[in-house]
Amino acid sequence: MAESTEQTKPVWRVPLADIDLGPEEEAAVLDVLRRRWLSMGEVTAAFEADFAALTGARHALAVTNCTAALHLAGLALEWGPGDEIIVPSLTFVATANAIRYTGATPVFADITGDNDFSLSVEDAAARITPRTRAIVVVHYGGHAADMPAIMSLAGQHGLDVVEDVAHAPGATLDGRALGTWGRIGCFSFFANKNMTTGEGGMVTTDDDQLAARLRLLRSHGMTSLTWDRHKGHAWSYDVVAPGYNYRIDEIRAAVGRVQLAKLAAANERRRALDALYRKLLPAAAPGLGVPYDVSRGLSSCHLRPVLLPEGANRTQFMAEMKARGIQTSIHYPPIHHFSYYRQAFGGESLPLTEMVGEREVTLPLYPALTPADVEIVVAAVAEALAVTLDEDSRPTVGLTALAV
Ligand SMILES: *Cc1c(COP(=O)(O)O)cnc(C)c1O
Repeated sequence: MAESTEQTKPVWRVPLADIDLGPEEEAAVLDVLRRRWLSMGEVTAAFEADFAALTGARHALAVTNCTAALHLAGLALEWGPGDEIIVPSLTFVATANAIRYTGATPVFADITGDNDFSLSVEDAAARITPRTRAIVVVHYGGHAADMPAIMSLAGQHGLDVVEDVAHAPGATLDGRALGTWGRIGCFSFFANKNMTTGEGGMVTTDDDQLAARLRLLRSHGMTSLTWDRHKGHAWSYDVVAPGYNYRIDEIRAAVGRVQLAKLAAANERRRALDALYRKLLPAAAPGLGVPYDVSRGLSSCHLRPVLLPEGANRTQFMAEMKARGIQTSIHYPPIHHFSYYRQAFGGESLPLTEMVGEREVTLPLYPALTPADVEIVVAAVAEALAVTLDEDSRPTVGLTALAV
């Protein structure tokens, strides 16, 4: 094997996220390459079995990414034009795009509050109409949404629940894995998630019929796989639906198995670092909102969000953090404000989502971060906030005039 592994030059003193890839992933990939079977087969089956065991789901199907998982969920539940699907706006756009792939209408609902950015059960309830078919829940930042309340609401109205678990592999609520509360769970293994295969995802369900449908739609609607034919299990196939090619491959499944084995320890490490943030931030930066002060269930701590004081200039705050070598991000620009969704579905007002959309900043959080790094970030937050609030208090009339 070539020894040259030229690393990308570090641009940041503390990046937003970092992946943990080592000799075990390298060995797993090499093993697949040497066995010379690359498309979905034995390694994928083993990855799926491992994932089912971790979550307690009856079925786990590996797919090419979480967006495909969400699309398959909507197809398997037979969403179509005229159907309304309640979904948060404070999420990655894929959650809503996947609803649109089926022709159904996303109905955006607000979040719970400034300490919990997941779907508000009350606001979701207020948006139910005779056309509502399902609720899509996102476990923001790896913290459980209020699943008992959401399941009870869905039960009262005969709605399906789909969980976008992109942030929360390994997280639990009342001892039950997130992704196994609703009818279908959709996981992401994108490169900045808690476990990664580069691109990749998993769809979980306890329902045998849904699993069969998901399996068909993942692979062209065909009744047998190349792998089955290779093994002499099948000579031909039928096509029973216009399915997709949403399969993963053996190389990524091999990486996924190693990453999955590391997940529990990695999440534990994230929780400890997040606790340190929650301990240090309120004293260092009074006025800063530090949501999820207590987490519902066992979080996977995918993100560490903070809320800047009302009126603080976020662009400037993030520039001050950058000047100190700290990468930050925003989770999320609300979906209902994007041009496509605004034009197609109107400019709904979601006050709490908009408040978080304007004031939220995400701080670095990943397993390889050290407690000393967290202290560096917290000190930078205190300085950046002080500078930002100081600049804000200056008269800006003259500057505005110049800029025009
Ligand atoms: C990353 C992400 C997705 C999309 O996952 P992909 O695997 O990149 O398709 C969907 N929803 C949320 C909340 C995400 O963070």
